[in-house]
Amino acid sequence: MFKMLDKRKVLSVLSRCAPCMLRPLEAPFRYLFGPGPSNVPPRVLAAGGRPIIGHMHSEMFGIMNDIKKGIQYAFQTSNNMTLAMSGSGHTAMECALFNIVEPGESVLVAINGIWGERVAEIAERMGAKVHTLVKTPGGHFTNAEIEQALAKHKPVLFFLTHGESSAGLVHPVDGVGDTCHKYNCLLLVDSVASLGAAPLLMDQQNIDILYTGSQKALNAPPGTAPISFSERACHKMFNRKTKPVSYLLDMTHLSNYWGNDGKPERTYHHTGPVSGFFALRESLAILAETGLENSWKHHTEVAEYFWKGLEDLGLKLFIKDKDLRLPSVTTIAIPEGYNWKELLAYIMKHHRIEFAGGLGPSVGMLLRIGLMGYNCNKANAAMALAALEDALKQCRMSKA
Ligand code: PMP
Repeated sequence: MFKMLDKRKVLSVLSRCAPCMLRPLEAPFRYLFGPGPSNVPPRVLAAGGRPIIGHMHSEMFGIMNDIKKGIQYAFQTSNNMTLAMSGSGHTAMECALFNIVEPGESVLVAINGIWGERVAEIAERMGAKVHTLVKTPGGHFTNAEIEQALAKHKPVLFFLTHGESSAGLVHPVDGVGDTCHKYNCLLLVDSVASLGAAPLLMDQQNIDILYTGSQKALNAPPGTAPISFSERACHKMFNRKTKPVSYLLDMTHLSNYWGNDGKPERTYHHTGPVSGFFALRESLAILAETGLENSWKHHTEVAEYFWKGLEDLGLKLFIKDKDLRLPSVTTIAIPEGYNWKELLAYIMKHHRIEFAGGLGPSVGMLLRIGLMGYNCNKANAAMALAALEDALKQCRMSKA
């Protein structure tokens, strides 16, 4: 093709690449103490930096099998239909909805922050009948409230966020699965912000579909998302009348790609993020070495130390009940007399620390500080407290 064209003419019409592309990549170091991504430990970075192998090589399938075991441990499940999505937490969220729900079916969504809002929107876009249970950010639902809504709307799926990162709330899950099953409904739980930080037991708590993200307490780079389906969920999704709207997220194909469908051969579906899977495997290995219970205990201890330090600074924790506070993401009410955006900008500029403001319905209500996985230790908590103390001294708004 190039040969047939006049070379001089081609060169004269080729536009030049923008000069930024001739400069080296710059990615500054930051303390990522927001709600995620969190800093990635050198061991996980090194795993992700290993030479690429083919996504269909037998060694890669071995690594994917290891990832499956690592997720089964992290989720406390023996579900065969366990895998990692090629994509962020949203990919897992869409995968669950697209595969479980058929257009026209009813879905019940608990909204007490942004994640329920997201799920309701995705379900609406795919043509489900969406019913919602709504509380202001930081609120939670009793099992009786959930049961009443299940009886009224008869949904095929109920969605609950375990770690509501936009409010800093960890939602009780005990008994919810049993209640859902009483109404022939499946339970879908989002543990993106809580996995590894707060206790969650997929099988024991009768959760049908559970997903998380790689970039929070697991400390892998963003871009992969563990998910698992119970037998009950598999029965529903593999006996559909219609095909799921997404080819990429169709579990018929994904279950084969992950060697979960019992077929002797895996066939090409899409090219998985090889480096992302290497890193995810390493982060799951670290969790297995640490032990889930130790990880939960450690997050709680550091969070309690941090909460005490915040109160000593005169700050108000957004979630009043200690038992409902998410240990990985702490939320504080915006202190009176301060502009939250100025506080965040000051801390980023002078301390190289990322904190975050609210998200969705919690914007303008709170600040969010995440200390998870590798970042979760008292030294980092002390650093975050010192940065806040400094910002509170420097950023007070004038009363004029
Ligand atoms: N659910 C929760 C609870 C989250 O905190 C997040 C990420 N902040 C997501 C879902 C979405 O994950 P992602 O950004 O990886 O798509």
